[in-house]
Amino acid sequence: MTLTLANIAKTFPGGTKALRPTDLEIGKGEILALLGPSGCGKSTLLRIIAGLETPDPGAAIVFDGEDVTHQSVERRMIGMVFQSYALFPNMSVRGNIGYGLKMQKLSKAEIAARVDEVIDLCRLRPYADRAITALSGGQRQRVALARAMAPRPRILLLDEPLSALDAALRSHLRDELALLLRQFGITAIFVTHDQDEAMAIADRVAVMSQGEVAQIGTPEALYRNPASCFVARFVGDAMPLEGRIEHAQLHLPGGVLTLPKAADGQQVLVRAEDIRIDQNGPVTARVEAVTFLGTHYRIALSGAMTGPLFMLHAGLSAPRTGEEVRLSILPEALLVLPADRAA
Ligand code: ATP
Repeated sequence: MTLTLANIAKTFPGGTKALRPTDLEIGKGEILALLGPSGCGKSTLLRIIAGLETPDPGAAIVFDGEDVTHQSVERRMIGMVFQSYALFPNMSVRGNIGYGLKMQKLSKAEIAARVDEVIDLCRLRPYADRAITALSGGQRQRVALARAMAPRPRILLLDEPLSALDAALRSHLRDELALLLRQFGITAIFVTHDQDEAMAIADRVAVMSQGEVAQIGTPEALYRNPASCFVARFVGDAMPLEGRIEHAQLHLPGGVLTLPKAADGQQVLVRAEDIRIDQNGPVTARVEAVTFLGTHYRIALSGAMTGPLFMLHAGLSAPRTGEEVRLSILPEALLVLPADRAA
């Protein structure tokens, strides 16, 4: 299903502008992430698409050419997966998945066929008759997905679908979720505040800030060509380099960096993975802390600029705390962007 959103805004009673007028187009089978910090309006947008919240007048929500703006939640035929999964703990996996279908008054045979179909799709066959309380967090998540898919929704909406899980399980399950959503072939929108999750699961990511979509694009496009400091910081953790800009040079306390272009009046940012230890590098810094992370070291540096700077180092050994190092950064790895309004 194709989803078109036009002029979607939300002002809550009391005047909070949770969402500023937003337009979005989501293609058939596309998986879109709404990514942003707490309070940026991502849940409000998801709830408006679901029909759980009413947008300000003048909005249009269109499913495959059909205007559903004034349709009830039930008529929109949406599948939802909530943060908490909202499963019935005392019911079996099968019972949970079939529950919504019973409410739709489908025949017993039809219900059984649909439940079996999603049980296989979500690889839940070995647990089909278990109680929810006897399942792991990851298995529960698959039940929540299967339950949302069983009524054959037109679109799947997921609100922080992995946030109930612990960190180790999250990174494993986000790949699994990405795979399952693609197998379903369904158009899906999910809300997250976790950039890794958004990048691992989505075809495109809409980065939101203060009730607006700051930028929308593929994970790669957002990482390589962020349109603002906010997006650069949020996607890929770019760090602002505080120094004096003179045309295409950045004067830092630790040395002078060459920029890819004249940057007067703009902000320069760098990502930790783009800083190199290089004995001929133009910037001097002191190693403050070294953390070994398996595939690389994370090094905290001081003296290069006024505040701390972090770099990732992929060598077999790392400099020691207290050592002085020289750094280089390729000009093309430096991001030159308009300074944030609020900054
Ligand atoms: P989080 O990740 O914390 O859930 P979010 O990005 O999903 O945040 P929303 O829940 O969409 O943010 O909220 C956006 C803004 O609207 C916030 O400032 C919030 O306080 C406000 N808001 C949300 N729901 C209501 C409500 N029912 N009444 C008044 N203000 C609300």
